[in-house]
Amino acid sequence: MTSLQQTLIEQLGEQCVSFDAGVLDAHAGDWSDAEKRRPQLVLMPRTPEEVAEALGVLSTLRQKVVVQGGLTGLAGGATPQAGEVAMSLARMNAIEEFDGVGGTITVQAGLALEQLQTHVEAEGWFFPLDLGARGSCQIGGNAATNAGGNRVVRFGVMRELILGMEVALADGTVLTMMNKVTKNTTGIDLKQLFIGSEGILGVITRLVLKLEPKPTVANTALCALGSFEAATRLLKELRRRLPALSSFELMWDDFMGAAMEIGALKAPFAKRSPVYVIVETLGASEESERRALEEVLEFALDHDIVEDVIVAQSLDHSRQLWAYRETVGELLGRLKPHAAFDVGLPMIAMDRFVTSVKKTLTSRFPAQTHLFFGHLGDGNLHLLSGPYADPAAMHEVEQLVYEAVQAAGGCISAEHGIGVVKQEFLHLSRSPQETDLMRKLKALLDPCGILNGGRVVGEPLAEPGLKLN
Ligand code: FAD
Repeated sequence: MTSLQQTLIEQLGEQCVSFDAGVLDAHAGDWSDAEKRRPQLVLMPRTPEEVAEALGVLSTLRQKVVVQGGLTGLAGGATPQAGEVAMSLARMNAIEEFDGVGGTITVQAGLALEQLQTHVEAEGWFFPLDLGARGSCQIGGNAATNAGGNRVVRFGVMRELILGMEVALADGTVLTMMNKVTKNTTGIDLKQLFIGSEGILGVITRLVLKLEPKPTVANTALCALGSFEAATRLLKELRRRLPALSSFELMWDDFMGAAMEIGALKAPFAKRSPVYVIVETLGASEESERRALEEVLEFALDHDIVEDVIVAQSLDHSRQLWAYRETVGELLGRLKPHAAFDVGLPMIAMDRFVTSVKKTLTSRFPAQTHLFFGHLGDGNLHLLSGPYADPAAMHEVEQLVYEAVQAAGGCISAEHGIGVVKQEFLHLSRSPQETDLMRKLKALLDPCGILNGGRVVGEPLAEPGLKLN
């Protein structure tokens, strides 16, 4: 046993510390391609108090630590770096309080998203955040990455679903901000600092979340369109006339072709179109909402906004329509080693961006596949490009795409965060003044530089003990 292991066991108790080989392997990395590395040991606190206590001890020891939620992150932020111990929040999954009158729930950060969804739905409520990784990702991880997903067009990103939060700072201080009301103007809303900060400022231990009444009916349609511009017109029409609009997922034809091939799916329409959109509404009245959706789609057909439409006639049929979009996981596997992007773009710039980047990538890398799809309503575009056996070629693609994003006035990450994998490109989205302030905040809240070091803004300031007074 190393002296670090011994000290941590003495101070935190045997149940809280593991250095079993299988456990170390299971905590060696997230879903990204960042190089896997076993942590020195894994801390497994069972309560928020144990998280704070562990951080206090690590600070005293100047021992670096990486925070781990469900390890589904795609930016390498939860992947251990050399010399780090890991702190897993998996044991902290309690539901502490449920308010079925106002629609809020108080949970520990290690609760899996799917467990939360199932729990509140049984009570007639609904937590609208939803991602493919729902079974494994944790609420704390969702908050730390400000996760998005398919329903942002109606319910917003994770930031908009959080009312209150508790955070353990690197020195073991507990910052309790367990607000339960939507309107609160009592000074600076400090929790916003931690949402999307990818664990570099503190460990999120508990959250108060906002719930929606549970929708009982979903209506789904797949539309074929002649152009991206038509898709923007369809979105505007749907937003104007359908308050229940919850998803608007765009796929370019290349993506649709690849999805049909990898998923062995039938072509949905008799002829191919340049662009496809999956539309979904979530509500409570099947007949009237379906009629409302059909009316907008008829209007869109009559006005040449849409070329063809399929409206799902059953839950099974709806799943068949979503199946094209949900081949992403398989496509990610097929195109490995790939460059995968989750960029944000102003809607007005998106079409030009796709056309020009596709042209450049196709001529520079003709042997590779380049697939575009996205959450149009949120300005979030995904690009999957690969396979690249040569890391230098992959780097060239990243450089090329991120520079085009900057030129289009977008951001290099709209969903997955910076972590370690996008760090060298952060300057294309954030000014030197912004990153300087981020590093000062980091130094203020983590003066010994022990927490998720080297992520997002790189290494801590040379003077880690920065004081603001
Ligand atoms: P981890 O991967 O464990 O950690 C992510 C980052 O947050 C790390 O930097 C980690 O240190 C930090 N962190 C984790 N927990 C805490 C905590 N309690 N306190 C402080 N810091 C913490 N993302 C989207 O936004 N939209 C999608 O649609 C989407 N779809 C996905 C589909 C698949 C199949 C996969 C694999 C991933 C997808 N993701 C998506 C990315 C990922 O699921 C999200 O980023 C998720 O929010 C990460 O949660 P996690 O618990 O797995 O965090």
